[in-house]
Amino acid sequence: MDFADIANMFNKLELTSARLEMTSILADFFKIVPVTELKNLVYITQGKLHPDFSQIEFGMADKLILKAIAFTSGTPEDKVEKIWLKEGDPGYVAEMLIDGKKQTTLFSEPLTFARVIDGLNQIETAEGKDSQDRKMKILSNMLHDSSPLEARYLCRIVTGRMRTGASTMTILDALAVTFANKEDKPEIERAFNITCDIGLVAEKIAEEGIEGVRNMNIAVGKPIKVMLAERLPSISEVIKKMDGECAVEYKYDGIRSQVHIGKTFVKIFSRRLEDLTHNFPDIAQSLKDHFRGEETIIEGECVAVDADTGCIQSFQEVAHRRRKYGMDDTIKKYPVKIFIFDMLYVNGRDLTLLPYMKRREAIKDWFDISDNIQVSKMKIVHSAEEMESFFGDAIDERCEGIMAKSISDKSIYQTGSRGFLWIKYKKDYHANLIDSFDLVVVGAFYGMGKRAGKYGALLMASYDKETGKYGTVCKLGTGFDDAFLDNMPSLLDKYKLKNKSPLVDAKMIPDVWFSPVVVLEVVGAEISISPVHTAAIDIFKEKAGIGIRFPRFTGRIRDDKGPEQSTSVIEIAEMYKMQSHDFDKFDRAHTNI
Ligand code: AMP
Repeated sequence: MDFADIANMFNKLELTSARLEMTSILADFFKIVPVTELKNLVYITQGKLHPDFSQIEFGMADKLILKAIAFTSGTPEDKVEKIWLKEGDPGYVAEMLIDGKKQTTLFSEPLTFARVIDGLNQIETAEGKDSQDRKMKILSNMLHDSSPLEARYLCRIVTGRMRTGASTMTILDALAVTFANKEDKPEIERAFNITCDIGLVAEKIAEEGIEGVRNMNIAVGKPIKVMLAERLPSISEVIKKMDGECAVEYKYDGIRSQVHIGKTFVKIFSRRLEDLTHNFPDIAQSLKDHFRGEETIIEGECVAVDADTGCIQSFQEVAHRRRKYGMDDTIKKYPVKIFIFDMLYVNGRDLTLLPYMKRREAIKDWFDISDNIQVSKMKIVHSAEEMESFFGDAIDERCEGIMAKSISDKSIYQTGSRGFLWIKYKKDYHANLIDSFDLVVVGAFYGMGKRAGKYGALLMASYDKETGKYGTVCKLGTGFDDAFLDNMPSLLDKYKLKNKSPLVDAKMIPDVWFSPVVVLEVVGAEISISPVHTAAIDIFKEKAGIGIRFPRFTGRIRDDKGPEQSTSVIEIAEMYKMQSHDFDKFDRAHTNI
């Protein structure tokens, strides 16, 4: 297969923002791709060569890509950089400067997909002293034989930012349409949620059809998409939603950790599927020592504790553990405990479809409790009073709040989704703030006065799983300290776009657009109908969305959350509904929630 065909397909994706159209562009293409190449095609559609949880990267910063463009096109490096500063995307720079004429020279070879994959593999594995130079030359070699359009996407693949707008959900839809039926989508989604490997799902369904997907199992060592909690604004509503009886657990404010204990290894994954094992080697070892079986997957929260008293410390303390180097000292300085709250797999048995109480019992059956290995504190409650008193204890013990968990027969572990089987209730709700929201930066406004020459405010959005898009909810201009204001360009500029991302719906026009990537924690005082924002547009009022009033940055960059794990439009709409008692319209519009 020629890479040109793939570049054309990416271009078609980029030219539309309608999810259905994207699905059919992908599905049409999947039909003609040789089965042996489908897995790699799906990965590169997401700017990768491996599944999400793989730590392997191309290791090419934008500046190195610009060097390859300069080298191939014979353009001075400073000129290339100038164009890049204006365009904000190495892909566009390559497209402008690679003219495609080189293809006719004596040394040119056709740019097949196999050659691209081979080149990308070489870039990824280049190591050692002159590896940067070799990476640059391998890319340049491929650019030499590229058309402008191919050059655009080659450079985008190595940045990992494709900008086509095709999300994981759209790819899964397209796989369903091509190789099975639309109705099979939940099973395909589950296969993806338990393996986190979209390439593998694509390969299975293409080779074995929906039956192959049904037979996909949890594998120890490969992360599973985590289950998430809904929220409600008052304890009485939580207990009502749980039909008067549920479990409540302390909600610890630490780092969610999914631990895989295999026969020969222990791996700890974050909720974003990053490998955190080297950040918590003490916890990994201790869990292995205190596990009585052979293989398991559990989830818990790693929390910092005071070395002398054992008391729980704030999130900021455990956050010190999230570093790449100098772990030995950090481990001593910031002792950590894990509070296990779920067990998903043990000795060949998938527990995810068992009810909560059974999974909870399994934790105690298979683990010995020790100083740094604990089980989350839990109580079965039958009234708002009991829940309120448990909440008080949780706050006294420096937790963030409580997690109410259904104990019904249907209380499975819902991989990769947020539902009312788990409901979080945090102390922020008590303090009259609606809650903290994890919102995605999609744009920035230049500052004035003291903030002149810097970004002064950010356009924040939330993710709508139903449409696969980001709707704006507020303009955020408070809570920034000087350090954060200075740091904003280095945090955001790599995601700068020339135009609005096709994934973003916005009415407000910022000075600079970004790809929706960076997630910040924001507190707000109220949610209101807003004619200028686009989240939940038309749901509560025609042509209006919902907005967060008086938003303030808490200082916490949520780099443990991906943009699709930010507070969703549905959650914010639910909060609005609770706050305004505007149930009717919302339920009519979202009957399946
Ligand atoms: P939030 O980050 O506000 O969406 O809250 C969900 C997070 O709470 C989970 O991802 C866990 O990291 C954390 N958490 C703390 N304690 C518990 C618990 N007992 N059960 C489930 N999640 C918990």
